[in-house]
This record gives sequence, C-alpha cells and structure tokens, in this order.
Amino acid sequence: MDQEQFFEELAKKYPALMKKSLVKYIGVGPGWYKIIDDLCANLCAKYLELEAKLPALSKPTTIEEEILKKEIEQELSKLEENLPAFTDIKEKFGTLRVYCMYGDDTAYDFIDIAENSSRAICEKCGRPGILDDTHGWTKVLCELHRKERKSDPTFSIYKDF
Ligand SMILES: [Zn+2]
Repeated sequence: MDQEQFFEELAKKYPALMKKSLVKYIGVGPGWYKIIDDLCANLCAKYLELEAKLPALSKPTTIEEEILKKEIEQELSKLEENLPAFTDIKEKFGTLRVYCMYGDDTAYDFIDIAENSSRAICEKCGRPGILDDTHGWTKVLCELHRKERKSDPTFSIYKDF
C-alpha cells in the first residue's frame, strides 16, 4: 500500500479527522502505518464513540429521543472542530514527526506518544528496530533491514510497498 492509498484508507476510517488534513498523503514508510492508524484512532476515539449512538436515533419516536439526537449532533460538531488538522506527517532525523494546527493538549499528547514509539519500530516493516545512522541517512530499522541496507545500495524504505 503506497502513501496515497494509505491516506485513502485512513480517510474511510476517520473521515471527520482526515477531511481536515491539509496533506493528502502520509509521508512515512509502511512500517509506521500502524503508528499513524493508532494515532488517528486515539484522536477520534471520543468522536467515534458518540457517533456510534446516532444510528439508534435515526428515527426518533419520542421528544426525549429527538432532544438527545440534537445534543449528540451538536457535541459531534464541537468535537470535530477540536480535531487537529495535519499539516505534515513525515520522517525527520530518523523518527516520525506529525505537525498540525488546531489540536488541543490531549491531541498533542497522543502525537508525542506516536512520535516516541517510532524510535523503536522499523520504518520499513514494523518490527522492533533501533536508530541506525551507520549507512547513509538516519533511519529506524530492524536487524534484517539494517543488514539489507548495508548490503544493498538501492535499499529504500519505500521500495516494495
Ligand atoms: Zn524491518
């Protein structure tokens, strides 16, 4: 799955979040896709939990249900406003960087967690890795991909998606 396809997948799972994103692709290797997916799930958790209550209220039969439905819809639009808008998602100096606008403190906490976890996850395959700067660019790679990079001059995080 390439970076645009991965973005499309996230857009389907987390539409409220991804429609605000100012970037339309995720600029990291496939080994970090799960980190990004988990980040989006955390950022959207409250929104998705509340949204899941709506189908049961699609045809309100009492005034109470009608009011509840309106309240949920109002709360959802408030939550949507507070979702961060990604301005860049990339690898820098070997680790994940997520830049955004509008996010609240909780959003930035989730982003910190995601960025920190990238220090120990191979950007190519998602297995445990370490920061490796012995051969070219600094990258977090697992043992296998450190060896591969050493022996293959055309090695790329983005090859063989
Ligand atoms: Zn690897």
